[in-house]
Order: sequence, then structure tokens, then C-alpha cells
Amino acid sequence: MLEQILQIKTPSPEQSLQFDWPNPNQCEVWVKRDDLLHPVISGNKWRKLKYALQAIYAGQSSQIISFGGGYSNHLHALGYCCNQLDIAFTAIVRGDYSANMTPTLTALSDWGAKIKFVDKQTYQRRSDHDYLLELQQQYPEAVVIPEGGSQRPALSGVADMVNELQHHYDYILLPVASGGTLAGLIHSQINTKLIGIAVLKGQGYLEQLVKDLLSEHSPTQWQIAHHFHHGGYAKQPDELVHFCQQSQNDLNIPLEPVYSGKLFYAARELLAEQYFPQGSRILLLHTGGLQAG
Ligand SMILES: *Cc1c(COP(=O)(O)O)cnc(C)c1O
Repeated sequence: MLEQILQIKTPSPEQSLQFDWPNPNQCEVWVKRDDLLHPVISGNKWRKLKYALQAIYAGQSSQIISFGGGYSNHLHALGYCCNQLDIAFTAIVRGDYSANMTPTLTALSDWGAKIKFVDKQTYQRRSDHDYLLELQQQYPEAVVIPEGGSQRPALSGVADMVNELQHHYDYILLPVASGGTLAGLIHSQINTKLIGIAVLKGQGYLEQLVKDLLSEHSPTQWQIAHHFHHGGYAKQPDELVHFCQQSQNDLNIPLEPVYSGKLFYAARELLAEQYFPQGSRILLLHTGGLQAG
């Protein structure tokens, strides 16, 4: 029902990728276009928020609190949904942007969200039991959704995507930041090797985030590649920016340097170095774009 109200277009298209990258093992590459699920709500954010929003909309509460940085796709997606669904929203933001609001934060406040700026020390406590208890006392009616929307109910929302797939794949590649999307695919128990492309420096830390989200054993094989973050989350070296511009034209798919650009770059490198066996069928999960502006 929410999908109708918010006009989410599922299933998202699954397209064969026509590319001229070196491909000595003649792999087949496909793209799942979750970036086309909605013009405002970033693709994987919808997957992750779906069940939490459904429960809230069904009457569990009419107020949401969540966390993010000044450019957070998650806050942006959630802020838009709350506006459309008439749910009160408070965003707890890392750092004080009150004197120079980002486009994300401006959109949030236009959509009626309350923004609460906190310092880094406070923000670090965002998952601490004591801090969450304090918040809950301050806002007794509110449902608290963690950073990135990555929580247990998010896994089922992501896993639903697997039911949309039209083909069997040997590998799925996807970007990883807070681990919820990867954890959701593992949770689906899909019989496909998963390769997460870390978009930030987080060897060990990201694997732990994923494991902490999973409650039961899954036979799905997964790993995270840590050599495609290009220096860190917000780092945009010329080589990556150039790759995005070039590939965006060649492939006719929008790419940005934070998530999808790193994913496609990694795919090109792994194909060239013959990481995938002869004739493998590979799916790139395009998780969504950055917000306009
Ligand atoms: C948030 C986001 C990600 C990261 O997903 P996680 O579940 O946090 O690992 C990837 N791609 C896009 C477009 C995003 O907005």
C-alpha cells in the first residue's frame, strides 16, 4: 500500500550492460536499477525503510527520530517519506550546520522535519543503550530508526528484491556503507556469491556491522572488497570523477562518485584482472543516486 502512496516503481528494471571494458573471461554483466525506484527516495533506502514505515503507518506511532550526516541519503529519503505520509520527523544531525545548511538539510526542513544538531561526541553515542533510553524518555511516542536505516526489519525489505530477479547470477556486486543492504542480501539466503564494495575505509569494522545485523546463519557466501574506496567516503579523486563522467556517457546510466561510481569502477577492475571465472554472470546492484543539488 505504501508503495502506491509513495509511487515506488517495483520491480526495478534489470538490464544487460553493454560495455567496452577489457573482459578477457567474457563475463556477462547486468545491472539492477534500484536507482529508478523513485525520483527522490534513494533506492536502497526504500528497501531498508519499507517495513519500518509500514508498521509506523499502520498505527504503531506517528513520530520518527533518526540519525545522519549533513548530506545523508537516508535522512533525505526518510524526510520525504514522513512528509508524504504525515509522520512527524526529527533528524539528529552530526555537526552544526545551522549557519550553512546543506541542500539535504534545507530539503528536510522544507518537508517539515525538525533538525537537531549535535556535536561529534554526542553523535557517537547514537547506538548506545543509555543514549537511546534518554531519547525515548524525551520523545516517548517516537520510533527511533538507526543511522542508514540499517536494522533488522531492513533485512526483509532488501531481501524482497531477490524475488524480483529474472536470472540466476554467479556474483552480485554492491556498494557497502552501513552494511544493511549487504546484510539483507545475505539474509535472503540467495545462492549467489556477494561482493560488497566498501565505499569507506572500514576493514574489519564493516564486516562486523554486517554480522551484527544478521541473527541466523545463512549459507550465502559473501565478502567485502576494501581496495575501491578511493581514499574514503567523501573522497573524490580525479580518476574516479573522470571514470564516472566517461562511463555515465558510455553506459547511459547515472553514476556518482560516492556509491555507484565506486561499484562500477570495481567491476571494471575485477573483470580486467580476471577475478571472475570464464563466462560468469554478474549483477551490479545500482543502489540509487545522490540527491539532486
Ligand atoms: C546509503 C547508500 C548505500 C549504502 O548502503 P548500506 O546499506 O548503508 O551499506 C549505497 N548506495 C546508495 C545510493 C546509498 O544511498
